[in-house]
This record gives sequence, C-alpha cells and structure tokens, in this order.
Amino acid sequence: MAFKTHGSGRPQRSASSFRRGRPSGGSGGGARRKGPAKQYIHPSKFINQAVTKEAEAPYESKHKFADFPFGAELHANIRAKGYVAPSAIQDQAIPEIIAGKDVIGLANTGTGKTAAFLLPIIERMSGIMLRPSVLIVAPTRELAQQIDEEFRIFAKGMGLYSALIVGGVPVDRQLRDLKRRPHFIIGTPGRLKDLIERRHIQMKNMGFLVLDEADRMLDMGFLPDIRRIVSEMPDERQSLFFSATITPDIERLVNDFLKDPITVSVRTTETSDHVEQDVIEARDKTHKVELLADLLSQEEYSKVLVFGETKFGVQRLSDHLSNLGHSSVAIHGNKNQSQRQRALKQFKEEKVKVLVATDVAARGLDIPNVTHVINFDTPQTYSDYVHRIGRTGRGGARGRAHTFIDQ
Ligand code: AMP
Repeated sequence: MAFKTHGSGRPQRSASSFRRGRPSGGSGGGARRKGPAKQYIHPSKFINQAVTKEAEAPYESKHKFADFPFGAELHANIRAKGYVAPSAIQDQAIPEIIAGKDVIGLANTGTGKTAAFLLPIIERMSGIMLRPSVLIVAPTRELAQQIDEEFRIFAKGMGLYSALIVGGVPVDRQLRDLKRRPHFIIGTPGRLKDLIERRHIQMKNMGFLVLDEADRMLDMGFLPDIRRIVSEMPDERQSLFFSATITPDIERLVNDFLKDPITVSVRTTETSDHVEQDVIEARDKTHKVELLADLLSQEEYSKVLVFGETKFGVQRLSDHLSNLGHSSVAIHGNKNQSQRQRALKQFKEEKVKVLVATDVAARGLDIPNVTHVINFDTPQTYSDYVHRIGRTGRGGARGRAHTFIDQ
C-alpha cells in the first residue's frame, strides 16, 4: 500500500491538494468523544515547510553556568548532568531568582524551565534549616515526578531532600516521606491540597512557591485547589510562576500570588520551526492503521509517540500495533499510576518503539529523542497540536510530526 501522492512510503509535503473546508475532526469515523466540540483546524496548519527557518541564530546566553554564584557541589552536579551553556530561560531567570525576585516565566516545555527554577532555589536553600520550605506544584503526576528526578540529580550530595506528593498512588509512603521533613515538596494540586488540609504538610516555613505549567493546571480545573494551597502559604515568600500562555485567568492569579514580578519570556513561535510537519491522507481508520504500520516499518521511526483521542481507542491501537509486530505501550486515564509509569519507562528506555497516548496523559512529559510524533486522531485544538508536536525535536534536534487527515 502506498501514500496517495508519492507512493514512496513518504508522507506528502504539499498543502495544495486539500479540499478546503473539510472538517479535520471527522477522520477515521467511529464514535467521537463527548466533551466540547472540536475546533476546526485547517489542514495547512499541520504542515510546516519552513524548516529552512532552522537557520535562525541559536540563543546566545549572556552567562555561563560558571558565572552563577552557585556552590562547588551544585556546579559539579550541573556539569555531571552534561549542561554546558544555560538555555534562554535559565540565562534570564536564574539571576532574578537568585536576587530574590518573584518571576513569571513564559516558557514552553522543552526550554529548560525546570532547571531554571530548581538551580537557584537549590542554591538558596543550602544552609536553610527550616523545612519544608519549597513547594513545587505541577499539573500532572508525570511532570511532578520528572521535576523530582531532576531535583535529585542537581541536589546530589547537598543534604537536601524531597517528597513527591501525587495522586493515584497510596498515601502511606508519602506520609512516611513527609515525616522525614524534606526540604522540597513536589506534587500535584489535588493530593497536595488534601495533605495540607489534613495537616500532614506544614506550611508555615514555606519560603518558595513554584507553579509550573500554570496554564495547564487551570485547563485541568485545578484553580480552586491551587488557591486553597496558596492561601496556606506565608505571605513572606518568593513565588515563581511558569506558563506557556497568559490568559485573563492567569493574569488574575499572577496579580493575586506574586509581588512585583519580573517577566521573562522565551516563548517561541506557536509551532516549533524545527519540527517538520506533514499530513497523511487516509480513507478511514483501517487505512490509517495500515499507513501507520507502514511508517513504523521504516528504520528511522525508532521512537514514535502516537496521539489518539479516546482512552479506549488509544489502548486498542497500541494492542493492534503490538500484534502487528511493532512493540507498543499505551498511556491514558484508564491506567493507574504504576501502569503509566511502567509504560513510560519502557518507552523512555527504548524497550518499546511506540507510545500511544491521549493528550491529557502525555501532558508535560519530557521524553528525550522522540523521532516522530504522529497524530492518529487530529487534536481538539491547535494549542493541543502545538503541545503534541513539542514532544519531538527537543534540545535542538530535528523532529518530525505527521497528522492523519481525511482523504
Ligand atoms: P524542561 O523544559 O525543563 O522540561 O527541559 C527540557 C530538556 O532540556 C530536559 O531534558 C533537560 O534536561 C534539558 N536541558 C535543560 N537545560 C539544559 C541546558 N542548559 N543544557 C542542555 N540541556 C538542558
């Protein structure tokens, strides 16, 4: 079987063959999710022929890591992690955070924002005896876990400890971790709120608040939990706020939570220019699966993230690909935390070739070296699309994204 225009097994590159006005959401038939109506996205938005824009000058950092007034251990840990030069958000935010300012960081995932807040806080924490004194709130369990993993790498040997407080896993171990009075508490809003209300988390010494991916947390309905959590924080604190977008709701939060903030923006264009994006026309769902299996047979498709719309569809597609001999795992809301973690680990460590995911399950994940993102089902919104394709082409690597559309 071949792709319609090329017959070479390669997705097509031209936007000109589109029949205009066709809704993008109808591809593949089958039951649509209930929820809000899907945004119409013209297929040309799934194509990026401007890959040559890649020539854009790389960011030249004003600082070297050595310029930052960090202790020898922290510097050594940064070197051991392999970071050579600060990324744009690190370059601009770290000096402000060290100076004690509240900071609004407008940055997408993949910009290095985690280290931008972790490094200066770790530095400022050394020697502080009061704990816990840092609260980091993230929208998803996976993102919180990634932040915790980075924290452990950067704080190695410094006598600083963390507790990961996320939902979907038993609370016993978390309560045990909290009893050890960690310096950093990293978690998701629901469980954090719960344990704060039950007085398992002491808030009176919290001197740092980080809200990561604030826009996503609002999208996911966490606003009341966040307000409740922050209301328990002391007024005397440093607050750092990261978001890819600024909406009126976000602005209100910023006004309520931050004092005299400095804004650092490293937002790039809506869609990463270094991700090469194409569409693939398919007749129906069966055809899509055939085309996808064809792609996966090519050697270069070695670490492929596939997005589907429904939990059920994602699981079924993953099982189907595995049956066809393309090792695949799925993450979606019907899987519990340890199942999701296992799947993610298998994919990260390249034990399987394909991860099939829903948007919510994949939010905020940092998976290095994804070779291709494939939109098996078109996204609900263009912003979801941008988030999806942001999983490939990270850290300057070139990424590729394909979106299935109706033939
Ligand atoms: P983040 O935006 O924090 O999720 O980071 C995206 C990826 O970039 C992660 O894999 C980081 O480990 C990596 N990264 C962050 N800062 C740097 C840096 N200064 N140099 C090289 N890689 C980095």
